[in-house]
Amino acid sequence: MLIFEAVEALKEIKKEVVTEISIFSSRQPPKVRFMLQSMLVHIADVETYREMSLATGKVLVEKWLWFLEQEGHLFDELGAIVLNRVSCTIPQALEGQYMRLLRRSFGAAYGNIFRLADAEVRDHILAFLEDNSPVHNQHEYEEQQMLAALAWIGDQVVQARFAMGKPFKKGSHNLSFQSLMQNAGWELTAQGQRRDLYYHSCFSLILNEQGNEEVSSPVKTGRLCEERCRGCGRHLFALFDCDLRAPVLSFFSIHGSHLRMAMCPTCTMMGELVYIDVDWDGSVYWSVDTGEDPIEEPLEDLNDWEDMPALRPAVLVLGTSRPTPYETYRAHTQEGLSQFGGFPSWIQTPEYPLCPKCQQTMKFVGQCALVDILPQTEGILYAFLCVECKKAVITFQQS
Ligand SMILES: [Zn+2]
Ligand SMILES: [Zn+2]
Repeated sequence: MLIFEAVEALKEIKKEVVTEISIFSSRQPPKVRFMLQSMLVHIADVETYREMSLATGKVLVEKWLWFLEQEGHLFDELGAIVLNRVSCTIPQALEGQYMRLLRRSFGAAYGNIFRLADAEVRDHILAFLEDNSPVHNQHEYEEQQMLAALAWIGDQVVQARFAMGKPFKKGSHNLSFQSLMQNAGWELTAQGQRRDLYYHSCFSLILNEQGNEEVSSPVKTGRLCEERCRGCGRHLFALFDCDLRAPVLSFFSIHGSHLRMAMCPTCTMMGELVYIDVDWDGSVYWSVDTGEDPIEEPLEDLNDWEDMPALRPAVLVLGTSRPTPYETYRAHTQEGLSQFGGFPSWIQTPEYPLCPKCQQTMKFVGQCALVDILPQTEGILYAFLCVECKKAVITFQQS
């Protein structure tokens, strides 16, 4: 099995060669860097974990923890990648290990590993953060990691503590509670209630092998709309076309026939927030919320994108349901990232747009890896919706 081979191979690497392991660091000797990167491909592959039984997952976690503990903190960053994948795909395999996991240095970016930690672990973290006595200051826990873990646990006790707004005795110089919560995909309402910024249902979006535009699927990608962007004049592109009557989309709780979420091939890709007025019958209108000065006449010579064969309708269709909404979270891959529902795979820092009408954070609806609809590209398109105000927007991030 690749992961066990990776453990064995890692043990072979001499510490004096890998003085400070950072897989992404260019300071490594080329040979070591290459070796680590090829391992990374295997250990970060979502597919490997998807096929794993719970029993194997538990063995894997035990073996990696043992290995990491043998090596001080040398391989914690690599371990974080493995344990992140476990937490995103078979989180039950981490049960009973959280106290050991707390002692590792995974960094704030991997707080999600602690998502299902129990109340005892949560209280242990709280006690650590609230205590500034010298004894605890010598503790080896990382403050940033503890804060991130707490946000991911995000239960009622954490919600109440964050709602107080009072900084912890430790980590007062750290990220705001708001960023901690957004990183973990939720926020507090004005009434102090938790509001999730994503749906827990999640489906893969897969290639439409038949190539048939009229294929029946609850969600399809790609169709140019009649409506134009009034920022630049191009036809809008309906990234997601959803059949709201399909039972699998009942998690949306929208009563209607169709929802189309559109983007502007130019303005969206340039990082602009192009708001779309939608309804539940599939209408798409460029929203005046996008800008002050909509142009009246389309600019000329805008058809290069629109002529692309890759943009034929229904390139992607709805695939199978995923076991957790987090399967592609921090996935080091460009394959299999397109999904409907679930938790966003941010490439950069999380950016949830605000609804221009009610000013609430818009909810994440799905994402499309650009490469899936346009070969030889990279980056992810993220779709957001405010159901109450019928506003949609699509954003773009790339590395
Ligand atoms: Zn535009
Ligand atoms: Zn709104």
